[in-house]
Amino acid sequence: MKLYNINKKSEEVSFTQAIKQGIGSNQGLFFPSTLPEFNKKEIGKLLKMDFINRSVNILLSYFEQDFSYKQIFKWVKSSFNFPIKTVKINNKISILELFHGPTLAFKDFGSRFMAQILNEINDNKLVILTATSGDTGAAVAHAFYGMKNISVVILYPKDKVSKLQESLFSTLGRNIYSISINSNFDTCQYLVKKSFLDKNLNKQLHLNSANSINISRIIAQICYYFEAVSQLPKKLFNNIVVSVPSGNFGNLTAGLLAKSMGLPIKRFIASTNINNTVPRFLESGYWDPKDTITTLANSMDVSCPNNWPRIEEIFRHKKWNFNSLDYGFINDKKIIDTIYNVKYKNGYILEPHSAIAYNILCNKLKNNEYGLCLGTAHPSKFKNSIEKIINQKIILPKILKIKEKLPFLSKHIKPEFKFLKEFLLKNICK
Ligand SMILES: *Cc1c(COP(=O)(O)O)cnc(C)c1O
Repeated sequence: MKLYNINKKSEEVSFTQAIKQGIGSNQGLFFPSTLPEFNKKEIGKLLKMDFINRSVNILLSYFEQDFSYKQIFKWVKSSFNFPIKTVKINNKISILELFHGPTLAFKDFGSRFMAQILNEINDNKLVILTATSGDTGAAVAHAFYGMKNISVVILYPKDKVSKLQESLFSTLGRNIYSISINSNFDTCQYLVKKSFLDKNLNKQLHLNSANSINISRIIAQICYYFEAVSQLPKKLFNNIVVSVPSGNFGNLTAGLLAKSMGLPIKRFIASTNINNTVPRFLESGYWDPKDTITTLANSMDVSCPNNWPRIEEIFRHKKWNFNSLDYGFINDKKIIDTIYNVKYKNGYILEPHSAIAYNILCNKLKNNEYGLCLGTAHPSKFKNSIEKIINQKIILPKILKIKEKLPFLSKHIKPEFKFLKEFLLKNICK
């Protein structure tokens, strides 16, 4: 199967090329030229398989021209090596816990799978340069940790990342480098973009970004939507409504791809915080991004969601109407109320991102429907804000307890490109 560049349809590449390259010319995203589909019987068979074997079959339907069954099996087995659980919150809604991976967020799925592929297909020494406001850095650092020909450089705003988040990427060492600056996430992103445009730097280092622009991350995430449905009673199929807490909209892209393959999900809800470019667009038809606002759900503080053009492509290919995509947004006050209420009514501790998805799902769910809310991060990652809301201590999982005590290895630089470049040339170009 080939992929085309959404901004320049004549530009066609293989999956191997798209994964190596990340993005096409004119900043265009790559998108599969055909969308694989399974018939009802095949879906039934897939849903009966175990997670690993089912995932290999799903991925093979996209990747079969580029990679073998054996390769994909190996990658799936080493990247999806932690559990996925659906937990009932009330009679009508379950949460899909995607946060039992090494960095306690759903980003482990896509990052780990992408790392496995890149490690095998890349024939140069590679440098992954990523700006992070928290979860991405940790997932990417862990995914590439210890790989021989790949180095990772994480750039982050000092004091704007929680200590627990920082501990997950700054304590690893070996091929993982972390750099803090006294500025914000936007400056980090600006410095990364500047590095990608620097010819001299790119001549000496092969740079790659590993963010959710990379199609391999999105395709990998399709697998857990199938797992979610397989864990629900059969009588609910076709009445399932999935609420996706969205920032860059990679997760929702994967969910819609799963549906396009034949997975019996009735509809999706695009749930956001007050950075609500997409809900406003679906309401009015106008694309009007505003300045990004900081919220309790900081991993969703995005006002220009990268993956939105892919969602438009899916609807165009499938001839779906945008009326079938539900949407909603809530502010911090409602996030706080939701976390409090669900804790004391249902005995479940939500973190801010999942609380958004849950709140909007409750409001949108119709009588005969069953709701699935995606749990994208473990509550302990947001320990400080949640403890204040529920007035109760949160117990840290083992991995965070260990990391907290390790020495932080980050280097601090001034927020200027010349210092980042100097760091890269001095430390990575050995
Ligand atoms: C990244 C992230 C999201 C948003 O996912 P997108 O694919 O960017 O829409 C939601 N919740 C958490 C915890 C995240 O880390």
